[in-house]
Amino acid sequence: MFDLHQVHRRYGATVGLDGIDLRIAPGETTALIGPSGAGKSTLLRLLIGLEWPDAGEVRFEGERLRRDALLAHRRRIGYVIQEGGLFPHLDAIGNVGLLPRTLGWSSARIEARAAELAALCRLPADALRRYPAELSGGQRQRVGLIRALMLDPDVLLLDEPLGALDPIVRFDLQAEMRALFERLGKTVVLVTHDVAEAAWFADTIVLLRDGRIVQQGAPRTLLDAP
Ligand code: ADP
Ligand code: ADP
Repeated sequence: MFDLHQVHRRYGATVGLDGIDLRIAPGETTALIGPSGAGKSTLLRLLIGLEWPDAGEVRFEGERLRRDALLAHRRRIGYVIQEGGLFPHLDAIGNVGLLPRTLGWSSARIEARAAELAALCRLPADALRRYPAELSGGQRQRVGLIRALMLDPDVLLLDEPLGALDPIVRFDLQAEMRALFERLGKTVVLVTHDVAEAAWFADTIVLLRDGRIVQQGAPRTLLDAP
């Protein structure tokens, strides 16, 4: 789905990514783990075209990502950040409908799709009428997920999606999200600093440090390693 070849990204003197070679297979869940500052978020932002490599290239389905084709690219990708990244001045349905509306979806179509996804993501239907501040952390996260799924993207990119949640809610949502990913068969790339979470979700774990990939493999092979 994605192929990265010798991708470098610097911020002044700071190394973001330092020669990343990575292949992300369709339908698989890949977890990016590593300490803070390792380059996980930078890597995720490159996949969606929120930033660009200084050197090397990012390919999506064999084609080099192009700035002039970014809108089409982003429509195929759902992006979820911590706490859902919701706009506080819009209610949940306003948030999830933002992008579909720019594509000309009617309110009825937005409502129907949101209701369908709310059932799938186990969000009570009345929560769609509430503002982010009136929702629990877990509900905000679900709304973020619904927003990301509205256009039925092929890829889901999740940046610390459960980072802000308390352990119990986190555990429940982990289980639900995993079941959901299996059912939807999407390509998922997940950033976390929680190794257990990565092992729970991922087919492949990629361990980053200082902008480099230091280890990569199935959870079992990585976690059983001496
Ligand atoms: P992680 O997600 O693993 O915590 P990041 O990808 O956010 O790491 O950051 C990798 C490195 O790049 C860090 O040293 C960070 O400070 C730096 N960095 C990331 N984004 C920027 C930016 N916009 N400006 C300057 N430095 C940045
Ligand atoms: P062009 O129309 O010349 O392909 P783009 O607008 O797509 O230019 O990209 C502008 C710059 O961003 C390019 O010069 C290139 O350095 C960089 N860039 C764009 N896409 C990629 C990519 N997939 N991989 C690496 N660098 C890229």
